[in-house]
This record gives sequence, C-alpha cells and structure tokens, in this order.
Amino acid sequence: MVLETHGQPRAAVSCDVLIVGGSIAGNFLASLLAGRGFSIHVIEAHSIIGLPMKCAGIVSSKILKLMAIPDDVILNRIAEAHIFSKESGKSHVTIRIKDRPVVLDRVRFDQHFMDLATTRGASYHLGERVTGIVNQQDSILVHATKGDYVAKVLVGCDGAHSIVARHCGIVHDFITGKQAIIVPASALGTIDVDRSSCELHFDPSWNDLFAWVIPAGDATARVGLAARAGVASRFTTFVTRRFGSTLEDAWHRGTINKPAFTGGTIPIGLPARCAFDRILLVGDSACQVKASTGGGIVMLAIAARAAARAILQALVKEKFSRRFFTTRYQAPFLKQALASLRMHMAIHAAIKHFSSKDFAALFSIANRPFIKKELARTADMDFPVKFIMRILGEPSFYGWLLRFMLRDPRIFHDVLAPFLARVPLDASKKRSKDK
Ligand SMILES: Cc1cc2nc3c(=O)[nH]c(=O)nc-3n(C[C@H](O)[C@H](O)[C@H](O)COP(=O)(O)OP(=O)(O)OC[C@H]3O[C@@H](n4cnc5c(N)ncnc54)[C@H](O)[C@@H]3O)c2cc1C
Repeated sequence: MVLETHGQPRAAVSCDVLIVGGSIAGNFLASLLAGRGFSIHVIEAHSIIGLPMKCAGIVSSKILKLMAIPDDVILNRIAEAHIFSKESGKSHVTIRIKDRPVVLDRVRFDQHFMDLATTRGASYHLGERVTGIVNQQDSILVHATKGDYVAKVLVGCDGAHSIVARHCGIVHDFITGKQAIIVPASALGTIDVDRSSCELHFDPSWNDLFAWVIPAGDATARVGLAARAGVASRFTTFVTRRFGSTLEDAWHRGTINKPAFTGGTIPIGLPARCAFDRILLVGDSACQVKASTGGGIVMLAIAARAAARAILQALVKEKFSRRFFTTRYQAPFLKQALASLRMHMAIHAAIKHFSSKDFAALFSIANRPFIKKELARTADMDFPVKFIMRILGEPSFYGWLLRFMLRDPRIFHDVLAPFLARVPLDASKKRSKDK
C-alpha cells in the first residue's frame, strides 16, 4: 500500500517496524519483514522510489544468492575489468572476472523490492521526511513532515547522512561521486566502450577511490568518479582524457544524447555500531560499505537478512534491547563481513598514498604469471582476504609492499590501523544472554 504522496498532516501512525529510507536497504528489508503478521511501514523522502539514481549498479554475482532478482533488472554481465593508472598508457592490467558481476537497472531494482514489500502488506509513505526521533519507555516516537509515527522497532536505512544514525551518535566520513549516463545519439551510433568489460582508472589526484566506465547493456555506459573534493573538475579531466572531449562537447557535436548527471555520497570507514535499544541501522547508514570500491549492495544485503531475522525474533519475544540486537543482528553481520571490510579499508588507505610510480610498480607485478593466475582464481571483489593472503606469498609483491609501507611512518600506520581498530564486534564477542 502506498500512502499520502501528497497528503495533509494526519494522526500518529502506530506500527511494529518503521523503516526510514525506501532505497535498496529499506525496500529489501521491508520485503523480508512484510507478510509475517507484523505491521511494517516505510518512509521515503522522495516521491518516486529509485529516483534520483545515484549508483553505478555493478555488483558481484554473489548478490544473486542473497536476493531474488528478476532477469529484467539485470542489464549486463561483465567478463573483464581493465585497470588503468595515469602513467600506464596502454599497459593496463586486465582481470578476467570469473563470477561475471551483474550491472543492475538500479531504479527497477529498488522498485522491485518495494513492489514485493507492498504486495506482502507493507505500507509506504512517499514524499515524507523524518525530522526528529525520541526514545520513549516502550516505543520510539518519530516526527516526520506529515505527522508522527510510534514504532516498536525503528530501522535507519536512510543512507550516508542518516538522521537515525545521528540520533544514535554516529556520523560518517564520506567521499562524493559524480556519474553521467551516456547514450549514443543515434540508434546506429556507438560509444568507445567495450560492452563486456568495465574500466577502473586510478590517478594520484583522485586516489580516494577511482574513476569508472561501466557498460550498462545496449549501447549505454555509466561514467563516474568519486573523490573527497574537487569532484566536478576531476570528472571533467577524466572524461576528457578518456573520451577526447567533455561530454557536453560530445553532445553539442551530436555524438551522444544530452548526458544525465547524478551524484551521491559514499560513506568511508569501518562499519559502525548498528544495534541500539529498539533501533537498528542497515546499509550506508551503518557504513556497511567496501572502502576500496565504494560498493555497498552486497554488504547491505547480508546485513538486511541478519536484521530481518533479529527483528522477527524480537517481535515474537517482545525483546528490544541493545544487547538483544547486538547478539542477534550486529554480531552475525560482522562475523561474516568484518575481516573483509577491514581489508577493504586497508587497501583504501594504501591507495591514498600511491604515487604514479607506485601504480606503475604494482601494475608490473600484477602482470606476473603467478599474480595473474591468482587474480583469475581467487580475486573476489567483496571478500578479498583470501586473495591478498595468497599473493603475500609472491616475493615481488611482499617485497614491494614492505618497501612501500616502510617508506613513511604514516603509510605504515594508515594501512595497519583498520586491522587494529576496535569495532563493535569486539565488544560483543561473547554471546551474552538477553537482559
Ligand atoms: C556514485 C555512486 C556509485 C555507486 N556505485 C555502486 C556500485 O556500482 N555497486 C555497489 O554495490 N554500490 C555502489 N554505490 C553504493 C550504493 O549505491 C549504496 O551502498 C546503496 O545505495 C546504499 O543503499 P541504502 O539503502 O543503504 O542507502 P541509500 O541508497 O543512500 O538510500 C537512502 C534513502 O533514504 C532516504 N532518506 C534519507 N534521509 C531521509 C529522511 N530523513 N526521511 C526519509 N527518507 C530519507 C533517501 O531519500 C534515500 O532514498 C554507489 C554509490 C554512489 C554514490
């Protein structure tokens, strides 16, 4: 049921679960919770689910095991990744990706899980924004632009700048992404993009992340870049270098349609505490994001499944304490994801210190037969620990890594810090009994 897109203020709504944010974390979670005999409500600030689209939509095929995704939501499968650095010219690294990542129609993806949730009985409140949260004795009171809500459980699926996370005392560091969707101007036209390969472009001047070119089925491509600052000018530099002109010039020349630009923030860091008294955080709101790629969809799918199990148990047992949600949601999620998220953060920290020479050295190591074999065999865009442990056995790699880390004490510190940092799991290792 979709309610009140343009409605007037009304009486407080009481429900079992209130989800803030109707993007992928909120919609997937709502689809898992709905139809189980509890009242599930979702509040979304935008009037249309999925828009504006702020994502490149490339996800490892693991997502197909975590979520039932209809075929028409999958626009493309990627066979290879070409990795470039500024200095590498033609000598880029090519990785055959054995699990063939999917490129999603991100708008349909979000809408599909909303449709599933509403079919199962969830209620959606579109075009409504949460403005305040109050913890009460036996519930959470939520103020929103069209009225109040009283919920037994509140879930923050409201992204990098989550009001629910801020209410719980959590604020994330973030970088900003800018992306253009480019489409050839005529049906017979093409753009210079291989339809089965994605491209990642590294450069010391935008090494908070990278720039990307993702073929999104048909002749369309998603071209983007994420960085901490100066994103617009770096995006122009990248596009001009990659395509020979700005996208606006290509449009004026009649080569492509008017490009559609989008942008968004990507939280960067180790995962935050995500379980509180009657409140859970899922997805970007809890920084459940791979810091070396900015990808959040696989991790939030794992988190949403754990959160749904915990919430259903909580509603049956009438137990809503922070300790209950810590042991039933936070600990199982972190057990699956934490080692990988630490490794992603260490890779992110290392790349931030890379010079052009470092990229060139690493590219030449990556082209060695042993590393190429391991890249094809064990590289995993979500869970990289096994791959990194394997290639640590290659003398050229660990020799280079040692020289790199010992070059400057700050590099040594930044790369090791994610492995030493205390995260919520450490506090909940012992499976403590619920209060
Ligand atoms: C440029 C870019 C490219 C990306 N590419 C990829 C990729 O290729 N692969 C990948 O896995 N990940 C990618 N990501 C990350 C991915 O998009 C996110 O991890 C994912 O969308 C997070 O989903 P979410 O539901 O947690 O939060 P979001 O998608 O951020 O959704 C939060 C929702 O909450 C709503 N909201 C916020 N505040 C309120 C409020 N107060 N009241 C009501 N509603 C509110 C918002 O309107 C929004 O709909 C990319 C991100 C960016 C920015």
